[in-house]
Amino acid sequence: MKIFNTMSRKKEEFVPVKPGEVKMYVCGPTVYNYFHIGNARTFIIFDTVRRYFEYRGYKVSFIQNFTDIDDRMISKAKQDGITIKELGDRFISEYYKDADGLNIERATANPRATEFIDDIINFVKDLVDKKFAYEIDGDVYFSTEKFEKYGKLSGQNLEELESGVRINVDERKKDPMDFAIWKKQKEGEPAWKSPWGFGRPGWHIECSCMAHKLLGDTIDIHAGGMDLVFPHHENEIAQSESRNGKKFANYWMHSAYLNINNQKMSKSLNNFLTARDALEKFDPEVIRFLMLSAHYRTQLNYSPDLLDSDKSALERLYNSIDNLENLLGEVKFEKLKKEEKEYLNNLNSYRDKYIEKMDDDFNTADAISVIFDLSKDINSNINIESSKEIIQTALNLIRELGKPLGILQKVTKKDLDKEIEKLIEERQKAREEKNFALSDKIRDDLKAKGIVLLDTPQGVRWKRV
Ligand code: AMP
Ligand code: ZN
Repeated sequence: MKIFNTMSRKKEEFVPVKPGEVKMYVCGPTVYNYFHIGNARTFIIFDTVRRYFEYRGYKVSFIQNFTDIDDRMISKAKQDGITIKELGDRFISEYYKDADGLNIERATANPRATEFIDDIINFVKDLVDKKFAYEIDGDVYFSTEKFEKYGKLSGQNLEELESGVRINVDERKKDPMDFAIWKKQKEGEPAWKSPWGFGRPGWHIECSCMAHKLLGDTIDIHAGGMDLVFPHHENEIAQSESRNGKKFANYWMHSAYLNINNQKMSKSLNNFLTARDALEKFDPEVIRFLMLSAHYRTQLNYSPDLLDSDKSALERLYNSIDNLENLLGEVKFEKLKKEEKEYLNNLNSYRDKYIEKMDDDFNTADAISVIFDLSKDINSNINIESSKEIIQTALNLIRELGKPLGILQKVTKKDLDKEIEKLIEERQKAREEKNFALSDKIRDDLKAKGIVLLDTPQGVRWKRV
């Protein structure tokens, strides 16, 4: 597999630290509000990367943090008259609702910064002890000139970076590029006790600390949106490598923005659509389809018509699935026919093409085209004369290729009917065996799904209510 590494600006062959395993850290949301579909693009992209690694047989440890202490958290909590803990709890639970709604798989862990304060303090202490950081009156700064590789990820050297900085906000720093890793408590702010007095962690240190704590010295992939390359990820590298003496991450992946009117969608520009609002109007698979219809390193300009056209595109793929499911109940031949052997190879070749696209730096746009080609091929070549075996193979394949993208997984009505009929058979069997507890349970379970059973002289019938 090849991954475009922001660090080298090249596609590189992926070689995991430990064969068969992927350790991945993705910078997550600041939990002071609902997330918008720009954030959702990044979350969906890395969820797809994770799913695809799993599809290719890797065991993936996927960590995505919640930033639950920073200026925005503090001012929102103040505004709402609640503690930052209450604010964090609330929007973490809202995050899960929306992320689950978008079929984003739950991470292996979602660490919260405020739950790692002791480890963060130790991390800062180590940096001070090693002279990579210095304290001034309760604030602790990382000294960028001490870290030779500073600027490498964003492709700038320290001098170039400095020339771009406006004359400095904090005159006390040794160098304008130095950044706070521990911030002295200001009046009314939440704070923790530390060797430098009461204060709170800076933003960058939380990711360095939690990535190390949960994944170890060197991780395989560190990821986030493009806006995080500088300064966030640059600073994470400086802190982690200075403290641990090891390379922090082997591959750096960054997703491009979701724009609106060619401008980055963001809370500060107030040009956003929340994931929640989008989910009210559109099926989650349509939203995922939109996000994955462009390569993750190209910007995508959102417009409401895009979701409408993606909705019809996805429907075309579901039509193929429906047709195949209908055919399964109608065709005469069970086993693969001799003349179908070649067609079976042809079907399987779509899997190869799909893998080729996805292996090439997760080219979801081209992978989706492969699924469309497969669907067209199926529509024109599979019919009432086909065998059940070839139909089932085609059906399994189209669903299989959708899975890493989190699309084409919806249970269709036909599937549901099959499931219900299976349960009814089980209930019949239980009754014959006089296991009434089980048969009653099945009846109740079905009722809860809105299915009512009718014992008729012709046998059991069912209907939806
Ligand atoms: P935030 O809560 O603003 O820290 O953002 C959480 C994640 O969403 C980060 O990885 C950001 O880079 C990413 N992100 C923010 N805005 C956008 C956008 N318009 N398009 C894509 N990703 C975004
Ligand atoms: Zn981070």
